[in-house]
Amino acid sequence: MIRKLAPHIVHQIAAGEVIERPASALKELIENSLDAGASKLTIRFEGGGLKLLQVEDNGKGISADDMPLAFEAHATSKLQELSDFAHLSSFGFRGEALSSMAAIADLEIWSTAESESIGTKARVAYGISQPSAAADRRIGTSISLRNIFQQIPARLKFLKSERSEGLQLMTVFRRYALAYPEVSFSISDLGSQRTQSLNPESALERTLWFFDSQNAEDWFSISGELDGWKLSGFVIKPKAIGKVRSGISTYLNRRPFKDSKLEFAVKRAFEGFTLFPRDLSSVLFLEGPPEEFDVNVSPTKMDVRFQNPERIFSLIVRSIRPHLEVEHLPEPIESRVTSVETPLILEEVSEVVASTMLSKPEVFEFRPTALPQREFQPTTTFAAQSFSPSIENRSQVFQFSNESLNSFEYLGSIDETYLLARRKQDLWIFDQHALHERILYERHLKVLKEGGRLESQRLLFPIVLKFENASALLEQEELLHRLGFEVREWNDSKIHLISAPAVLKRDHDKVLCRLVEGREGAEESLLRDLIATLACHSAVRAHDRISREEIDRLFKDFQSEDALGHCPHGRPTFVRFEGRDLEKMFHRVV
Ligand code: ADP
Ligand code: MG
Repeated sequence: MIRKLAPHIVHQIAAGEVIERPASALKELIENSLDAGASKLTIRFEGGGLKLLQVEDNGKGISADDMPLAFEAHATSKLQELSDFAHLSSFGFRGEALSSMAAIADLEIWSTAESESIGTKARVAYGISQPSAAADRRIGTSISLRNIFQQIPARLKFLKSERSEGLQLMTVFRRYALAYPEVSFSISDLGSQRTQSLNPESALERTLWFFDSQNAEDWFSISGELDGWKLSGFVIKPKAIGKVRSGISTYLNRRPFKDSKLEFAVKRAFEGFTLFPRDLSSVLFLEGPPEEFDVNVSPTKMDVRFQNPERIFSLIVRSIRPHLEVEHLPEPIESRVTSVETPLILEEVSEVVASTMLSKPEVFEFRPTALPQREFQPTTTFAAQSFSPSIENRSQVFQFSNESLNSFEYLGSIDETYLLARRKQDLWIFDQHALHERILYERHLKVLKEGGRLESQRLLFPIVLKFENASALLEQEELLHRLGFEVREWNDSKIHLISAPAVLKRDHDKVLCRLVEGREGAEESLLRDLIATLACHSAVRAHDRISREEIDRLFKDFQSEDALGHCPHGRPTFVRFEGRDLEKMFHRVV
């Protein structure tokens, strides 16, 4: 026998798609309170939210006339015309949440609108309206859900333990609290009687709370703009990665969303500056013109479709990268010098140390002429567009090193891999491969940034390389040319390599493979990636024997480049023992 389902059953089924679990109800309730302009939210729950979930706010409230409507499906005060859609700034607009919650739980609401002297109370349990009386006068709204899914066993069985549901409630709370530092929040688990309260504070303070970070100094504040898009937020400094909670939180017009590509952009920006991209911590707030994205992709509204994701990708990389490049300069030498000259020396050894220092002639020399002219003059749109934020910082840095350069005195090598050198009182140990790789990377990057082409060399005999999809490679004509490659198609699966970058002596196929892989991301990061691959395969390797001239050349290049602390893959290029470290190790100073 076929029977038509009762309307409230139909609604219950549909409601389960909007409200999957207590955490999704909490998300809707918080969003409604924020939409109502609340500056204070009090959340209480019991039994992971299954027994009780309540949100109280001091927002503008719901008037007595509107109250019955609030529970109807597709009733909203926020969207009237479909054309409003593009300009919407509120969280809600589908008018589905309250009615869905009322279909799957015992929902009670009281609310007093700003303009009214007495509040309204209403109760709807599993889709059926219950009698209720007028409430007292307290501006704002309180909504409580009891026994979520209790009468809908099919849904109940998808829930996890109370503990796990409770943890998900905390996640939702934290996610919104991070984006609204000016709002005070409190959340209490009535079962365990644990409460967490947050007063209004600055965005940085909220960020420190969110990531369990003790130190504001561990963070960069970032900001950037591109074609009407704005980015702000905070990013962990490389040295503090792993010291705080990790995770990348993204918001669009203060609405939390998830996008693995944009998270990848942050990792890209850190490339070369950390070995632990998975442990990054950052919060990014994007703001952009409403007509250039769509949040109405799914009922939970956690996905966003961007009209031009590449642009956002590039905005992120550009806003982060310059901070890292400045941070990672080898430390200024000047400050070291003073610390060695005025050490805290133990009484009995002070004389010895002092006399050694006096008798040693200064080993360094100033060689300002050896410095390359580091004026960035972007000649092409690529350079101008992609790197302008860092130009100013960089030129300041150069002036500094200009005044304080010393030269390295080569001491010897271990295993034909580690180069030992002395500069002033410090002992440096370089990894020859990592160092050379980094130097090549910086050099090539500079050439390409300025719109140039890497030096190309014609091969004595063309190299035949096999490719699964040779035509994909040939399509990258411009990139190939700029990197110094010249290829000819032989057939579908083979190419002839006629010329190659002059620095590249081996592994041509590996570099080209990287190019065909058609990496996701903006042109800028693809280029960085290729240059890193090229540098890796061109650099001297560990255990390669290199001449004294080459070693001196490496030291010289190291001194005249910036941001050389790490190889492009994130390994350090050197470790340094300061004169002061040595003194400490031998207990000459305390
Ligand atoms: P939406 O948020 O998509 O409009 P909801 O079902 O979440 O749909 O809410 C329906 C309506 O109820 C809202 O448009 C709003 O007018 C009202 N409302 C819900 N919660 C609150 C609240 N905490 N304060 C004031 N008004 C509210
Ligand atoms: Mg809503």
